[in-house]
Amino acid sequence: MNRRRFLQVAAAGPITLPEFHPKSMLHVPEHPVARAKFPAIDTHTHLFGIGRKYAPDSPEARAELAQTAKYMDECNLETLLNLTGGNSQMLLAIRKTMSEFGAKFLTAAEPVWSRASEPGYAQWQVEELKKCKQQGAVALKILKTLGLYLRENGKLVAIDDPCFDPMWDAAGSLDLPVMIHTADPGAFFTPIDSFNERYEELQRHPNWSFYDHDFPPRSELHAARNRVAARHPKTTFVYLHVGNDAEDLAEVSAWLDRYANVHVDIAARLGELGRQPRAARKFFERYQDRILFATDASWDAGKELPQQDLKPGMYRCYFRFLETDDEYFDYAPSEVPPQGRWKIYGIALPDDILKKVYHNNAARLLQLRTI
Ligand SMILES: [Zn+2]
Repeated sequence: MNRRRFLQVAAAGPITLPEFHPKSMLHVPEHPVARAKFPAIDTHTHLFGIGRKYAPDSPEARAELAQTAKYMDECNLETLLNLTGGNSQMLLAIRKTMSEFGAKFLTAAEPVWSRASEPGYAQWQVEELKKCKQQGAVALKILKTLGLYLRENGKLVAIDDPCFDPMWDAAGSLDLPVMIHTADPGAFFTPIDSFNERYEELQRHPNWSFYDHDFPPRSELHAARNRVAARHPKTTFVYLHVGNDAEDLAEVSAWLDRYANVHVDIAARLGELGRQPRAARKFFERYQDRILFATDASWDAGKELPQQDLKPGMYRCYFRFLETDDEYFDYAPSEVPPQGRWKIYGIALPDDILKKVYHNNAARLLQLRTI
């Protein structure tokens, strides 16, 4: 562009945010990682379409698992844990389809929230959880439903409501780690305005915001979850998404120090961890026995192929973050960063920590073979 043309374009006024796609001028070493260094267990995935869009015994479900199995071999993923497994009946169908793929896929169970306000629920849910275990469930998944959606007579049910105490205890005695998602990123609890670091994400999904209305403060949701972990020391809790406070690793560290039964997964928080690589590296060193490799990957056989092909790309962002000391790279393979406009830095974990994070920590919790 000659100088006159450049001045014309510049004079046309500021571009809009969606039009802004700066290309980094940095020349820095790049070390893409195609396969995880050790066989990885992804403890946080959602199979069968988001929200179990299609039946687990449908042709779509089989096609999805077949495609996923191929990606797993390409990326050195040994096992995926499907978290949204539903009740014991649903698990029966899920396990049937999964078993066609050897030991590649595992599933968690979920509480039956729709019955939570019925009399006798507490004991009923305990019996139901036993059935889920018999159907092969290896964990119990708690969606953010608890704390943000589940209501009784219009009022939100507290995460530490005593009606769930028997369920938390049963999960412990059945050796089912509780994979608990509580609250959401900090930006989802502040106004959607020009100060919000996830502004574009919230523009795309305004219903992900919990700012205003009658939602409790995020700190209270975290505190209620912590009270549950404190009350049930024999039950293992995995706080998903770095406890949904990856923005504040000092706070998450305090939780891990206080509650010996708590672990965290790193699903969908590369954007936070990779923006603070020095703090993240220390965090991984200190809690190397309690951090699980996880992505929150979901597949959707209804979507056309280019979308599906992003999945190995997504995994490779995680591998690069964990294994290399590359600088200023994308945390997701999409053109527009899905969460916020930031880049990340790798933390180059040593092999002994990588082996634990990729595999052995999860293997221990899920009673699989360690390496
Ligand atoms: Zn998830």
